[in-house]
This record gives sequence, C-alpha cells and structure tokens, in this order.
Amino acid sequence: MDPYLSIIIPIYNEEENIPALWERLSRVMTEHFADPAKPWEIILTDDGSRDRSLAMLIDIAKAEPRVKVVEFNRNYGQHSAIFGAFAEAKGQIIVTLDADLQNPPEEIPKLVAKVEEGFDVVGGWRQGRQANDSFFRTMPSKIVNAVTRRTTGVKLHDYGCMLRAYSRDVVDAMLLCKERSSFIPALANSFAKRITEVPVAHAERAAGESKYGLWKLINLQFDLLTSFSLLPLQALSVFGVLTAGFGFLLFLGLVAYRFLHPEGTAQGVFTLFAILFFFVGCQFVAFGLLGEYIGRIYQEVRDRPRYMVKKVHQAK
Ligand code: UDP
Ligand code: MG
Repeated sequence: MDPYLSIIIPIYNEEENIPALWERLSRVMTEHFADPAKPWEIILTDDGSRDRSLAMLIDIAKAEPRVKVVEFNRNYGQHSAIFGAFAEAKGQIIVTLDADLQNPPEEIPKLVAKVEEGFDVVGGWRQGRQANDSFFRTMPSKIVNAVTRRTTGVKLHDYGCMLRAYSRDVVDAMLLCKERSSFIPALANSFAKRITEVPVAHAERAAGESKYGLWKLINLQFDLLTSFSLLPLQALSVFGVLTAGFGFLLFLGLVAYRFLHPEGTAQGVFTLFAILFFFVGCQFVAFGLLGEYIGRIYQEVRDRPRYMVKKVHQAK
C-alpha cells in the first residue's frame, strides 16, 4: 500500500541534530499518524554531508523500513535536496521541514490537517523568529519575503519557512519543472489553487550553524527575481526611457539658458562627472542584470541534472 503521508527532510552536516530530530519526529509519527489506513514514510536526503550524518541516517533506515535515505553524490543545496526527495515521495500529502529543529516536528499534524481540508499548499508562518538568527540572516529574509510577495503576487507572510505541506498534485507539477534554480515555496504557489498559512513555532537552531551565508541568500534572491518575473528587465527599460526623457529636457533647458543669458558660463565639469558616474553606475547594474539572465539561460540550456542520486537506502 502506498504511503498516504510523506515527510521530507534535507540534511547537510547535521550530525548533532539527527538524534534529537529522529526522536521527536518518530514520536510525532507514532502519536498522531497511527491510523493503519494512512501509512506514512520519511524521506531523508543526504545532501553530500561531510560528517557522520549519512551513516547515522542509514542506521535509522535499517531499523525503520518506513524511512528511506536518498544519498546524493555531493552537495547540491537545500532545494535540490528537497527535489531529490520529492522524486521518491509516494504520499498524497507531502510535508517538508528542516533538520536543525528550527521547525518543530510537533507542528506537522496541523499542516496535514489543513491539506486534508482541501488546501494545495500550506505554509508555516514562523512566530517569533529567534534572536540567534543574526541580523544578517533575518534582514535578507525580510527582503526575500518582500520581493517574493511582489514578483509572485501571492501575499504570504513567510516564504522562507520550509515547514510546509503540499498536495500530491502540486508536487507532481513541480517535478515536471526542469529548471535548476527553483525556489520551492514560490514554485509551489504557481501551481496551487488554494494556499494558506498556519502559524508555527520557530526554535533556535539546535546545534551546528546555518548553512546559508549572505552569498547563498543573494543567489537565492536572484533565483527568485529572475525565475519568477521579468520585472528587472522591464524596470531597465522604464529607467532608460525616463533617463532619456530627463536628458532631453535638460538639453532644452540648457539651450534656453544659453539664449536668455548669452554671457553666462556654466562651470559644469564636476557636475558633469557626477552625472557621468551616476549613469555609468546604472549601466553596470543593467549589464549585471542582463548577465544574470544570460548566465541562467546558459545554465538551463546545458541541461545538467539538478542533482545526482548515488544510492537510495531502505530496509526491506
Ligand atoms: N541544507 C541542505 N543542503 C545545503 C544547505 C542546507 O540540505 O546545501 C539543509 C540543512 O541541513 C537543513 C535545511 O537545509 O536541514 C536548512 O538549512 P539551514 O538551517 O542551514 O538554513 P536556515 O535555517 O539558516 O535558513
Ligand atoms: Mg536552520
């Protein structure tokens, strides 16, 4: 019998967190999902961990046949890790969460209940983001949230929370997407009809440190901006038109000034430089953006696989 519920967790160097995660998760599963008519499975992706994570996961899978471990041959990133698990998931309801216990497994039943009510995508909305998430971690998330809200047109509070539940249809649709740079929460929303959020608790990272630095976040932001909208390119054109218009008016003004004050000389070299630097700067931003799109097109046409599965471990 195919599982009814699939729990998906991406894991990258989480050896300190795995024991507590497994203990809490298996308790939730036995307490809340004991109905034999609704079997569950847990799919753990090892995203190329360099510590003992993989060995620990395999041990868990040996003892519990409902656990499957997808082993990647190297590190491909959180979203690819989730995709790798999506490809294995058989459940009608699919829940994702982080391994670091920032997303309490105890919240899973709440999300599952919402999908059972008929929602396609249920996002967790983190209450009281923890202080140990540094300014450099929360500030970019705020920007990501704001931009995502604008570019995808779906008004959720929290796109960054990976404690989320999806219906089978939405996951199937996501699996059809071939693009490599995909931000799962936004992608899911583009295939969902009914979307909702439920408040979930948010704990401090139990151990280890965040795998996201500022650079990964900037990359994620570009992913979002370029894969879900053409907004930056359109903004470029608008900006170009406005600048040209402004330049033309300035030209008319200068001509008029010349006629009105034939004796006046403008001491404009520095002003000119200021203006020049400004526009040169703008041009480079524009080039950068264009380059970003072209680079992404290049990556897509090479059509490399998003990840490589080395082995799937499961006790029979
Ligand atoms: N993760 C992953 N591959 C990566 C980076 C992270 O599978 O390259 C996993 C990580 O093990 C964790 C989840 O993704 O389960 C979220 O990572 P993290 O806690 O570092 O992100 P943050 O909470 O800071 O957003
Ligand atoms: Mg975390």
